[in-house]
Amino acid sequence: MRYAETGFDLEIDLSRGSIDRVETDPEMTRLHLGGLGTSARILWDRVPPETEPFSEDNLLIFSTGLLCGTAAPGCNRTIVATISPQTRLLAYSMMGGFWAPELKHAGYDKVVLRGKSPALVYLWINNDKVEIRDAAHLAGKGAIEASECIRKELNDPNIQVAAIGLAGENRVFYASIEQGRSSASRGGIGAVMGDKGLKAIAVRGTKDLNIAQPEAFMKLCNDVLKYIKLREANPIPGVPAILQGLGSPQEMRIVDEEWHTTNFMWGNARTRKKDYWTKDVEEKWGEQQEKVRTRLISCYNCPMKCGATISVPGLPTYMMKCYSKLTYTMAAYSDLNFGFSIAQKATEYGVDAFSAPQVMAFALELYEAGILTDADLPGMPADVEGRFYWLLERIVRREGIGDALAEGTYWAARRIGKGAEKYDHNTIKKQEQLPLKLGMLNPVYFLMYSTGEKINITQIEGQFPQAPFPTMEEREAFVKDWIQVPDEKFKRYFLKWEPRGEFSNPNYPDIEAACDIVDWQEKMHYIDDAVGVCAGLSSFPLKPPYHIHNFAALIASATGMDIDQAGVWKAATRNRSLLRAINVRRGMRRADEKPPEDHWKKRFPELETKLLDAYYKLKGFDDRGIPTKASLHELDLACVAEDLEQRGIIGPEDALSRPGDETAGHARQVEEVH
Ligand code: SF4
Repeated sequence: MRYAETGFDLEIDLSRGSIDRVETDPEMTRLHLGGLGTSARILWDRVPPETEPFSEDNLLIFSTGLLCGTAAPGCNRTIVATISPQTRLLAYSMMGGFWAPELKHAGYDKVVLRGKSPALVYLWINNDKVEIRDAAHLAGKGAIEASECIRKELNDPNIQVAAIGLAGENRVFYASIEQGRSSASRGGIGAVMGDKGLKAIAVRGTKDLNIAQPEAFMKLCNDVLKYIKLREANPIPGVPAILQGLGSPQEMRIVDEEWHTTNFMWGNARTRKKDYWTKDVEEKWGEQQEKVRTRLISCYNCPMKCGATISVPGLPTYMMKCYSKLTYTMAAYSDLNFGFSIAQKATEYGVDAFSAPQVMAFALELYEAGILTDADLPGMPADVEGRFYWLLERIVRREGIGDALAEGTYWAARRIGKGAEKYDHNTIKKQEQLPLKLGMLNPVYFLMYSTGEKINITQIEGQFPQAPFPTMEEREAFVKDWIQVPDEKFKRYFLKWEPRGEFSNPNYPDIEAACDIVDWQEKMHYIDDAVGVCAGLSSFPLKPPYHIHNFAALIASATGMDIDQAGVWKAATRNRSLLRAINVRRGMRRADEKPPEDHWKKRFPELETKLLDAYYKLKGFDDRGIPTKASLHELDLACVAEDLEQRGIIGPEDALSRPGDETAGHARQVEEVH
């Protein structure tokens, strides 16, 4: 018997119209835990590096996490993985809500899609009955609207639907998959779904899950709930409001946006408004938010309520997710009313709320610079809000200039030419980043931005404070009940960190400390992404209820696996190296691992080189950022080492550094094939 997981995947070939229920190998669960880990293994095994994102051979995998659907609080993530049209590397994006638990209860751990349907279809998974159904009547419909139509036609309000909007159908490189209370947005996974001719996946599941040691497991789940309550009652003093509590994040509960509006850039990630947040603005934003926010809502089995339903007069009600509240507002130099209104349309069209506003701000910057002219933007309104709406319509339809802009700032800049490349200044590995710009280089963030396979900072950071606390007294108070640290050294690192002077950025955290901190933070994300726990209760906030000391017992009691803390840590390390291997096999190299040039005002090339060297060493990568043969063997990934060796990427003696290879990188190779 399989515990916590179902032991079955659905394999769908959309070209042939075939549906297979396939038993999975428990050894893969032992090695990779589940979720992102086992999806990455499938992509490694079955998607060769030559595979184009929009090819029948590219797989699109919807996965539950190992503990999704169990009583573990906040364990509800759907992990969607594929090859990204935006970066041409691995894309994996997570959504909360209710979809993954529903799939588990229908009897499946994953839906693995390949091929392309000749006509638009949707998938209907109703426990054992699975059908590919015609979706011609849903073509062009918004993601939420289409989901509602499906629920009505299947006559069951409890069905969970993940759907794309027009952007996905038209293969916009930053199209999202929307799911009512959440979305999977990064990397253009919605475009791959659209390319496969799949409008939606509807699921209804009513089966039970087996738990290996129910009593022990329930006690651990209750401990998690108790700790959530404790943290709720004790917000962390000395950090911005947004970081004081749990949740992912609690943007819809709080109105104090001083931290974002002051530290994040406006427009095309260029303008900092240091003195923007005043008492007047706070009052106005508070009123605006209270007026449209009708209800705070949660995902499956989570008490946190960090999403909200938004009802803007004259527009259908929709759900607002975290930082999207501000991305359009700040990109357009506008206010919250505008952000709430345009986000409704953008959600229906299904676009990523990090990339879409930046691409539109980029287009307007090109217009101001005379690179785009009235001839490129015929009929565009004069006001900035009108312009954003106008651009959104063109992008999701790929009309006129929208066709280039639909490919994100990196590719659009190269298609437009005439110096537009200079305005693509906020991408890493060809994907738009959070518009955060700082004065002084932070070594921890340098490493996370450079090396994260997620290529999206918010999914890598967490657990260790983002900035030093001003006084030793505050630091000592913080470390006192810091039970989450994997090692006492992290407390020492934090106590020593000063806002100014010898022990401040960029020299402190020093190289060793910075590497250790990044290692810890990213490990926690890899664990979450395998078991399906929301990062908002685990890897993202300070002092979360899930941490390295309670995961092993939760996993062991739920699954019956013989796994301890070291085993969980090793599985996360294995998954991290496997993801790296996928991207390395697709051409990613050290030369690609750099944050945008203007990300920090002051850069330290020598320090940055040393940081990368040390990080690679800690990770078991060679100086090109490639996992060494020895480290892959150590992680039971001999088959990965063999493949990389056969392709000449690693040599038999390991850790070979080839002249010229370091600077070749993914960037050049991708441009050659695009
Ligand atoms: S913390 Fe927030 S985003 Fe995470 S599961 Fe709970 S309600 Fe959902």
